[in-house]
Amino acid sequence: FLPHLVASMEEVEQTYIMIKPDGVQRGLVGEILSRFEKKGFKLTGLKLFQCPKELAEEHYKDLQSKPFFPKLIDYITSGPVVCMGWEGVGVVASARKLIGATNPLNAEPGTIRGDLAVQTGRNVVHGSDSPDNGKREIGLWFKEGELCAWTAVQEPWLVE
Ligand code: GDP
Ligand code: MG
Repeated sequence: FLPHLVASMEEVEQTYIMIKPDGVQRGLVGEILSRFEKKGFKLTGLKLFQCPKELAEEHYKDLQSKPFFPKLIDYITSGPVVCMGWEGVGVVASARKLIGATNPLNAEPGTIRGDLAVQTGRNVVHGSDSPDNGKREIGLWFKEGELCAWTAVQEPWLVE
């Protein structure tokens, strides 16, 4: 097997997943991380991090005009978050499915928000909504030396 030849480069995407402060406070870090790991994606970055206000505002800049924006910034900066980079074929859309709908009330059982959260304002996890935003957000939350490019031995068993 030549794992680096398994998936063509354009199919391989990057997404930024973040366990929000409620997920950390509620002891759900291992549970949430393991869902992406078990699915078969590759971890490329991982850190516990207290987010400064400016970074939260930059990350959510598209929501600036929303009435809930100040509350959202308070929430995201209210305690440490777990920042993760994940890589894989179709990882952006796949991670959004694993996460479930923004409002946990509408999130299907089996999804992270469907199983572990109650309200939109405490929905435990973030996932990038497009491959471009995946790259943008990983660049925003990680410094270059914090990411690892590596070959996972399982790759040929996940992608033909
Ligand atoms: P996501 O991509 O599913 O996380 O949803 P959005 O990009 O639409 O919103 C980003 C985050 O803002 C959500 O995950 C929530 O934490 C928060 N948010 C969105 N809508 C509301 C709302 O109506 N009220 C509150 N309190 N928070 C919201
Ligand atoms: Mg979003």
